[in-house]
Amino acid sequence: MSRRLAQGPADAPRPEAGTPVRAVVALGANLGDRAGTIVAALANLARLPLTEVAASADPIESVAVTLDGPDAAAPAYLNTVALLNTRLAPSVLLAYLHAIELHHGRERRERWGDRTLDLDLIAYGDVRSDAPDLTVPHPRAAERDFVLEPWLRVDPDAVLPGVGRVADLLAGLRAGEDA
Ligand code: ADP
Ligand code: MG
Repeated sequence: MSRRLAQGPADAPRPEAGTPVRAVVALGANLGDRAGTIVAALANLARLPLTEVAASADPIESVAVTLDGPDAAAPAYLNTVALLNTRLAPSVLLAYLHAIELHHGRERRERWGDRTLDLDLIAYGDVRSDAPDLTVPHPRAAERDFVLEPWLRVDPDAVLPGVGRVADLLAGLRAGEDA
């Protein structure tokens, strides 16, 4: 086999052929039966092919963040984080996350608008991608205490690839809030 072929896309390592990758998914809901939706979405994640849910944090409540900033008048969110071990490729996993959002009645009206369910892929192993339709690590994860806090609870050693330890990021956010 030529060297070129050996390095071509068809020969690129496929996750489903190897060991599972740790993926971190953030779940948020601020409309309807928020707790019920989160529980159902976790069950949906557990039923994905080639995927197991290794852990999920107890949901926390947080103030809605809109394009204009935190909005205490908007319905509050319930947020949690699930740790997955998956052999799905990241693009396939994200497509499943969108399908689960739709299943729970998600309507995309405005960016960061109220929603029955938001599923964000926060990290996929150490993969770094800045493609608009699949950006990992999630570009705003480091600023979101409602992502970092539940993530830290289920993984005290968590690291946001290319950014830093989740414990340090959360401590920095909290220090900024107190300043
Ligand atoms: P937000 O969660 O920021 O309010 P959406 O859920 O509507 O916004 O997602 C906006 C777009 O971001 C979607 O079209 C989605 O494909 C894209 N996207 C890119 N990377 C990611 C990621 N890591 N997790 C979730 N969505 C992502
Ligand atoms: Mg989203």
